[in-house]
Amino acid sequence: MPITADYLGMGLSLDDLDGENLAYFRHCADHNFHLQACEDCGLVRYPPTTACPWCMSRDSKWVPVKGKGTVHSYTEVHHAIQPAFKALTPYLVLLVDLDAQKGKPTEHEALRVVGNLATPDGKLAPPELVKTVGIGTRVRMVFADVAPGLALPQWTIDESAPQPASPWRYPQE
Ligand SMILES: [Zn+2]
Repeated sequence: MPITADYLGMGLSLDDLDGENLAYFRHCADHNFHLQACEDCGLVRYPPTTACPWCMSRDSKWVPVKGKGTVHSYTEVHHAIQPAFKALTPYLVLLVDLDAQKGKPTEHEALRVVGNLATPDGKLAPPELVKTVGIGTRVRMVFADVAPGLALPQWTIDESAPQPASPWRYPQE
């Protein structure tokens, strides 16, 4: 079954042929984060794809992965690309290094998962929260329900984790 939904005035659709993403978002809809683990080399990959990026094997299984990590990089969006996002600026797009599999297969690699900074209930974070987050901030995954059968994985500040004294941010005016 394909998934179609409306998110802030934008049409989202996942086609029947996109088996990997349908499976991925089926787990997200249940507020479970699962990724594909290669059945040959054992490495987990993100985003969902047909073959292992390291050994090319097409055999994989879905495994639960802990949604905790550290902000690797970020973009602070001030010019919305869609009208519905205009009222929500500034917002953050985060690239998060998961704790799971960090430093594998080489020391410079990690599972880097994209998402927006959100409040614990999954709504885009307000400006006062946006300016507290930067490279090094510890975050945890939350799910934003969009439509029946579709939830988006987002990131919120991990209240239970030690935080850097001042996460790196672009110099502010
Ligand atoms: Zn592999």
